[in-house]
Amino acid sequence: MVEEPKPAPGKVKTPRQKMPEQEPSARARNFQEVPFGYTPELAVREAGRCIQCKKPKCIEGCPVQINIPAFIKLIKEEKFTEAGRKIKEENSLPAVCGRVCPQEEQCEQVCILGAKGKDRPVAIGNLERFAADWEREHEDFILPEMAPPTGLKVAIVGSGPAGLTAAGDLIRRGHQVTVFEALHKAGGVLVYGIPEFRLPKAIVQAEVEYLINLGVKLHLNQIVGKSVTVAELFAQGYRAVFVGSGAGAPQFMNIPGENLNGVFSANEYLTRSNLMKAYAFPEYDTPIIRGNRVATIGGGNVAMDSARTALRLGAETSYIIYRRSLTEMPARAAEVHHAEEEGIRFELLTLPVRIIGNDKGFVQAIECARMELGEPDESGRRRPIKVPGSEFTIEVDTVVIAIGNLPNPLIPDSTPEIKTAPKGTIIAEPETGLTSMPGVYAGGDIVTGAATVILAMGAGKASARAIDRMLKQ
Ligand code: FAD
Ligand code: SF4
Repeated sequence: MVEEPKPAPGKVKTPRQKMPEQEPSARARNFQEVPFGYTPELAVREAGRCIQCKKPKCIEGCPVQINIPAFIKLIKEEKFTEAGRKIKEENSLPAVCGRVCPQEEQCEQVCILGAKGKDRPVAIGNLERFAADWEREHEDFILPEMAPPTGLKVAIVGSGPAGLTAAGDLIRRGHQVTVFEALHKAGGVLVYGIPEFRLPKAIVQAEVEYLINLGVKLHLNQIVGKSVTVAELFAQGYRAVFVGSGAGAPQFMNIPGENLNGVFSANEYLTRSNLMKAYAFPEYDTPIIRGNRVATIGGGNVAMDSARTALRLGAETSYIIYRRSLTEMPARAAEVHHAEEEGIRFELLTLPVRIIGNDKGFVQAIECARMELGEPDESGRRRPIKVPGSEFTIEVDTVVIAIGNLPNPLIPDSTPEIKTAPKGTIIAEPETGLTSMPGVYAGGDIVTGAATVILAMGAGKASARAIDRMLKQ
């Protein structure tokens, strides 16, 4: 698996080290993680590629400004635990970010080694994952530097990356932190959305336990807005509330047939499989339709996760139906590549127009039309235009709709003082996350709409700083 260095005239360059992974034919039928991670030898070799730039661009490219050259140097010196701790100074979920962050659009995109086009960027994400895993697997829990207790209570709504990050930063600043989570497990999308084969749940659980060891209290099965309102939290003595409730409300296409049996939102499909462990039948008896021919509609990470989950649940054929071309696909290139390798069939430039059912009300086929690309739209991507008379059908028994999620309206609906934008996102100050209601801060997908783990974490950090300042005034 390791790419051996190829001697160049006059100079031997170490190529970017590939991470060993499961063979596509085997992994397409199991839920174990696809890449195995770097060995220490591979990590040291990859770390040796970093040229330790005087003005490193990679730090600017990281939304939480990890000191990337410093942790890479520690790996090169084989100080793996210290490397993991160095990352944790800025990022409380490094094992998660090393696996799911779009580094190719962030730190690695601006890495000076890759910028000149003569070499590939340092594999920063793979190294982050290695150091974080090493520290977790080899070191006992060590209490980080903690400020003296302030006795001030802060409530966090939602235990996704935004909420967990805010919780970690606030407890270290000495405050009493309680996280309220609607589901029976903490982690947000990291546990209910992203599948085991991309992000093992034990890793998220370890990060949650780390926070509990620091003293964060976790109240599960608590829906803020139903079980308790924001106003009641203040009445209970909380001095600030951070809302990190995410964007978990699925969007549908509003085409005929969406109410047939066998049509799922990606959220429901993935939650049944991941959080409710439908894949582990008969140990878990969560019902799910194990379709034989599954069509997933959409082109983002959520669509890739759904289509690849369908294969692992036993589908013979799993399609991605996407109305634009590969170039416009919003999913991470690595995920598209993995999906292609596993045999997912891509129906590109294709728009579903209706889902056809049988006389028992179950999905039987999906009717689609071919598209061509016109001028760019407001998103900068070329607008798909329907080709007249191009309709055709694909026989399927399950359809998963993965065309995006909207914020859950529960908190703003139950707290009218919190102002929202037309699409339901909470309006918050970009630097602090402060909302229109004094003492209430918000960040992550509930503010930005569906985005990324690292942006949600960055928002959690910013609000933690602002809440700390406000509490100390
Ligand atoms: P969430 O992770 O959504 O967490 C919000 C939490 O709040 C949830 O646990 C929810 O149950 C809880 N909650 C909601 N309402 C209430 C309430 N009223 N009371 C109490 N609790 C409440 N991003 C990447 O960077 N890389 C990827 O590869 C990637 N893949 C993805 C794959 C899937 C399938 C999905 C769905 C998303 C993916 N994302 C990815 C996006 C990323 O996961 C999100 O941007 C991120 O999780 C947002 O974090 P958050 O903390 O704002 O919200
Ligand atoms: Fe190393 Fe790239 Fe950062 Fe330079 S920009 S310090 S080469 S990771």
